[in-house]
Formats: sequence, C-alpha cells, structure tokens
Amino acid sequence: MEQKYYQKEIETMPLEEMRKLQSEKLVKQVKHVYENVPYYKNLMDEKGVKPEDIQSIDDLHKLPFLTKADLRDAYPYGLLAKPLEDCVRIQSTSGTTGRRVVAFYTQHDIDLWEDCCARAITAVGGTNKDVCQVAYGYGLFTGGPGLNGGSHKVGCLTLPMSSGNTERQIQFMMDLQASIICCTPSYAAYIGETLKEMGYKPEDIPLKAGIFGAEPWTEEMRQGIEKTLGIKAYDIYGLTETTGPGVAFECSEQTGMHINEDHFFAEIIDPATGEVLPEGSKGELVFTSLDKEAFPLLRYRTRDICVLSRKKCSCGRTLIKMAKPMGRTDDMLIIRGVNVFPSQIETVLLNQGYEPNYQIVVDRVSNNDTFEVNVEMTAEKFTDKVSEILAMEKVLADAMKTMLGINPKVHLMAPKSITRSEGKAVRVIDKRKLI
Ligand code: ADP
Ligand code: ZN
Repeated sequence: MEQKYYQKEIETMPLEEMRKLQSEKLVKQVKHVYENVPYYKNLMDEKGVKPEDIQSIDDLHKLPFLTKADLRDAYPYGLLAKPLEDCVRIQSTSGTTGRRVVAFYTQHDIDLWEDCCARAITAVGGTNKDVCQVAYGYGLFTGGPGLNGGSHKVGCLTLPMSSGNTERQIQFMMDLQASIICCTPSYAAYIGETLKEMGYKPEDIPLKAGIFGAEPWTEEMRQGIEKTLGIKAYDIYGLTETTGPGVAFECSEQTGMHINEDHFFAEIIDPATGEVLPEGSKGELVFTSLDKEAFPLLRYRTRDICVLSRKKCSCGRTLIKMAKPMGRTDDMLIIRGVNVFPSQIETVLLNQGYEPNYQIVVDRVSNNDTFEVNVEMTAEKFTDKVSEILAMEKVLADAMKTMLGINPKVHLMAPKSITRSEGKAVRVIDKRKLI
C-alpha cells in the first residue's frame, strides 16, 4: 500500500497538541532572535516587547512585523542569527519585485526544509518507486534544491533536470519514465504544449502527478495542465525568506495547501492596519518561522493575499490550509482606480478557450491609464482575417470588462509570439513608473 504521510504524527496532530508544540518553539525562537539579531531586537525594543512577554502562540501578535524592506535594509547579514561558520547554504529570491534578498541555512534548516518538500511529494502519492523529474531552476533559486532534497528524502529516483532545454526534458521524461514532475505551472504548460506538438497524447506520457508552484496560477490553468499531460496537478507554495517551496503543499483533495505549521506559523492580517483577522478572512499572509536557526524571520509579511481554513480535510491531515494565493499586494495593479489581478485575466482567457500565454501592458498617457492585454491565438483559433480578429478581440474585451469592471484593449497575436517562461512567467509590464 502507498505510504500516505511523510511525518504522520505531525501531519495528523490534534490542534491542541500542535498549539503546545508551536508555543514551546516560539518561546525559544523569540529568545534566540532577541539575543542574536540586533536588528530585530531594536524593533522589539521600539515596540516595548521583551522575550518574557511571549509565553505562548497567543502572544505572537505583540511582536513587530518584518517586511521585505527590512530584508533589503539588513542585506546581507543583518538578520542572520547564527555565526557564518554554522551556516552551510545561501539561497536567494528570484527578485520578481525588486532587489534580491538572500537567506542563510544551517544543516538543521536544510533538513527541515527538505522534510517539508518530502511531505509534499508523499502527499501526491510519491514513493521510492517513483522517478521524480525536478524541472525547477537549480542554483540560487530555491525551487530546484528544495524539491531535489525532498525527492531524495522520499527515496524517489531523482532526475535533477533544472529548467530549460525542453526537448531534453521530454526525452529524459520518456526514456526514464518520469512519474512526477516539479516545475513552475507556466513551464508545465509549455512542456505540455511542446509534447502535443510532438504528437504525444496524454496517455503516452509516463507522468502521473505534477507539483507546481513558485508563481500564481488559476484553477483553469490546473485543469488545462491536467488534461494535456494526463496527470493530477498539485500546488506547492513557499518563499525564500521562510526556506523555499514546501511551506505549504496540496494533498489529494486539491482544495488548498496544508501549511507545515509545526515550522511556519501563519497569520492573516489586514494589509492596511496590520490587525490580525479571524480564520476565513481574506488578507495578507504573515509567517513566523518557529524553529529555523540561521534566518529565523518572525512575523514576516509575505504580501501574498489569501485565506486560511481549518475545515476538516479528507486526506486526514490536520495542518491548517491556505487557499491558492490570489497574487501579491504588489502584483495587484490599480488601473483607473480599479484593482486588477493578472489571475483574473488568466481565468477569462482560459474560460474562452485560449492558452495562458498573455501579457498585460499598462501605461499612463496624459494622466490616463492605458490597459492592454496581448493574447496569443491558439493554433485552432488562428486566422489572418482582420474582421474575424476584431470580433474575437471584442468577445475577449467584453468578458474582461464583465470580470474587472474596466475595459482593456485586447490585441490578438500570432501563435508563439509571446516568449515562453522556463521559470516564473512575466505577466505584467507596467510602464507607468508610479513608484
Ligand atoms: P520573489 O519574491 O523574488 O519571487 P521567491 O522566489 O522566494 O522570491 O518567490 C516567493 C513568492 O512566489 C511568494 O511570496 C509568492 O508570491 C509566489 N509563490 C510561490 N508559490 C506560489 C504558489 N503556489 N501560488 C502563488 N504564488 C506563489
Ligand atoms: Zn488534505
């Protein structure tokens, strides 16, 4: 029988016991940070909080927040809580929204991170009988190293492909019968597209499951990938500041990701006021690392917008779940005063039978925002008749207007004209230079 959990006791721990474990870890962690990270000690002193004030997880709200700006301020060593001699690894963010930040790991930290990834792989049915193709980038980016470590822990035969070189990815996938693939959802869609062009049908592909994350993706995109590759597509979430992928992972229910809350305590706050919101509210996700040694961020504001839920899960895990993040507070475009998330555009496109190959271009001309969406025609929809193109553009623009409340200018483009991503896709080009 398939193994269902990687660390059953933790993954199915009753809430009361989990709270006790989290509280014990937090008390120790706050002391560790206060004594070893002058930057955070100052923040605590400014707020008038002492380590003794933190007796359990219920006191967490007393601690100050950390933001990406703090990380940039403190770059590179300002938040380090262990001597460099005790650290064994550095990773870095992708720099999607600005200057990169670096994170440090002791061997203990690497172990707990890889355990989290191993939980994710096990949750999608991974065992030592699987061949796990890791097509996230390797190197400073956390995707490759994290899943690689998790795959080893589960005992899968690991194919460390890294991203790119799609033809070779496919050749190895077929020759070595890869059964699990890990990459960004946009790269998974591209691999699917290439396989289709090469004449493969979903049933010819040896994969059974995919673990996709590192960027926002919609339910519609999940369905598209599942259909093309003939697999189950699971979400995985994480960020370099907390470790990397594996902070949260999806199980067989595919209705949100279980947070590895024995290591990362999650709160949802109102991004405007910092107030902690009750379970079920939509807001900004904040993580406290409970037992990382080298780079233990307390109350780190991720800027990711989502919802938490303790609803009972059919997989038996008791770990709290987070919904698919809608995007980041800083991904959200404000166009003509209206909030627009790229994920909303993606939903419209996929509902209308397009592929997730699009780019949003925003500019400001004479104090007015311009809002254009470039969309590729699929091979099936391709036409060079101007009247047909105009009619199709209108259908899309109308559907977007209904979804968003504002009218974009849609440009249909020839198939293959938008650059494919092997890592995180670039969906937005904002030329307004508002910051
Ligand atoms: P950067 O902030 O430079 O992109 P990271 O590579 O550490 O740095 O990326 C972490 C971010 O990626 C998260 O904060 C989140 O916005 C996004 N992300 C990661 N996994 C997912 C996911 N499954 N769904 C949506 N967004 C995700
Ligand atoms: Zn579950």
